[in-house]
Amino acid sequence: MRFGIDLGGTKIEIVALDREGAVRLRKRVATPSGYAATVETIAALVRDAEHETGGRGTVGVGIPGSLSPATGLMRNANSQALNGKPLDRDLGAAIGRAVRITNDANCLAMSEAADGAGAGYRTVFAVIIGTGCGGGIVSSGRLLDGPNGTAGEWGHTPLPWMRAEEFPGPRCWCGRDGCLETFLSGPGLAADCDGPGARDAGSIPARAAAGEAKAAAALARHTDRLARALGQIANILDPDVVVLGGGLSNMQHLYVDVPPLMARHVLGDVARTPIVQARHGDSSGVFGAARLWDTP
Ligand SMILES: [Zn+2]
Repeated sequence: MRFGIDLGGTKIEIVALDREGAVRLRKRVATPSGYAATVETIAALVRDAEHETGGRGTVGVGIPGSLSPATGLMRNANSQALNGKPLDRDLGAAIGRAVRITNDANCLAMSEAADGAGAGYRTVFAVIIGTGCGGGIVSSGRLLDGPNGTAGEWGHTPLPWMRAEEFPGPRCWCGRDGCLETFLSGPGLAADCDGPGARDAGSIPARAAAGEAKAAAALARHTDRLARALGQIANILDPDVVVLGGGLSNMQHLYVDVPPLMARHVLGDVARTPIVQARHGDSSGVFGAARLWDTP
């Protein structure tokens, strides 16, 4: 059995995948407040899942943040209770086995590469464009990682080919200016359309379709920026497919409008990279977490 946990700010979800990848159990509970309660809740979910499925298994956890390879402590988690804590060690102690932890974009990449929209492609670049903006890379079934634990952290690279009016870009929570996240995330799109402080991008496509010029212009800028950002990825990694996940991945114009714009920024002026929507939707996090032990 392979257990995957998706640890979110408001809910914790567990899934049990059997050897064939079939879902044997799935359940979600509210995220408790406090670190110790979070660890205990996850441990209890695993114990209960083992009891219900009758099988012991590996445990992978997807989190909105990462473990620092230097300190072994959590960093950049939206949930402040987790930051600075050795979540993998504490969870491992609580459930009596090693636990693998990675960020939600890496889980998306694992899940979509295994049996989602990236299945059958060698190198999958998966991005989340939603509340934040992240990325993960799976090549030949293997999640890429490195000495800094930052592989795929696309959202905190600067918008490429910035125009004068875009420079230096909004200040990002990470301390830098002009990160892709500040342009491409839902709050980034909302602020670009409706001004500082606006956070809801969900209505912008409908407003554009209804003829609101401001909304249409903001969407066009967002599409062009995504195309530039993916053009840069093609020039570095040349993935066989790009999978879009997160709330903004539901905007269907991206799959039509981004590829031709992207071609302008790919060396050689061709962009044959398919850009596809994640198949597992919001479930990618928990499915990907369950697959974190699929490779040695
Ligand atoms: Zn940043």
